[in-house]
Amino acid sequence: MSLQVNSASAATKSKQKYSFNKLQKRLRRNVGKAIEDFAMIEDGDKVMVCLSGGKDSYTMLDVLMYLQRIAPISFEIVAVNLDQKQPGFPEHILPGYLDSLSVDYKIVEEDTYSIVKDKIPEGKTTCSLCSRLRRGILYRTATELGATKIALGHHRDDMLETLFLNMFHGGKLKSMPPKLVSDDGKHVVIRPLAYCNEADIEKYASAVEFPIIPCNLCGSQENLQRQNIKMMLQDWNKRFPGRIESMFRAMQNVTPSHLADSKLYDFKTIKASGKPEPEGDIAFDTPEFKDENRSVQPAQSINIVNLTE
Ligand code: SF4
Repeated sequence: MSLQVNSASAATKSKQKYSFNKLQKRLRRNVGKAIEDFAMIEDGDKVMVCLSGGKDSYTMLDVLMYLQRIAPISFEIVAVNLDQKQPGFPEHILPGYLDSLSVDYKIVEEDTYSIVKDKIPEGKTTCSLCSRLRRGILYRTATELGATKIALGHHRDDMLETLFLNMFHGGKLKSMPPKLVSDDGKHVVIRPLAYCNEADIEKYASAVEFPIIPCNLCGSQENLQRQNIKMMLQDWNKRFPGRIESMFRAMQNVTPSHLADSKLYDFKTIKASGKPEPEGDIAFDTPEFKDENRSVQPAQSINIVNLTE
């Protein structure tokens, strides 16, 4: 009897290990692919990895440190946490964790919490001022550290939520790009988790048992509109499997001539060419859609990705 129980638990453990390995490979492959697709990290870069103490930034640091070990290029990593002096912030957790990794790091202490509390009336949302202050401090820190890239832990689902937020509330077709120049024009910001989905990151963070710092220390509710969009996307994902992946592919596959932004496409000057146009409109035909359920990554792999196998 006890022999049976032991072999059953050994089988469960090996199954768990197998699915953890698959999850880890998937995350590493997706990060490697995003880095390659957008040339996020180049030889000689110093990457400032912004660490909040949440699941996303821990996962990003973990995967980037792995890729640093196996990549054919050489780059430095420096982890940076901004201690915003929120009451109850457990300031020992991140230094303890980062020491255990032997990674270069800096904890920046700036009391943005008091500034925000002072400036924003009670009951009003504090996030926009808080994140503006945080952004300025992180850019300054990147300059001080001589970082050539600033890595943020936003993932695919953050990008989709932002796309819908901008459409629903801002009247813009705009998301969070995987790579951009900072608004002060001085830094290149990258999002290495751009191809990773939140569910994978959640599972990974809990399996690895990262020392997560709660994100509600400031007492602010996460933006309600973003929460609503998140719920809408989660609901779609349950009811229409594959829709999230399809929407993300759409962000990578834009046809300006089939939208309506005259700044992006010169509609005024178009003329019939007399030649067949593969991208032309089939005007009166009903469009046909395949019921696609593919994952975000195209079949082709690239160097850094192959090394993660
Ligand atoms: S949730 Fe709190 S810490 Fe985060 S941006 Fe908003 S105010 Fe700042």
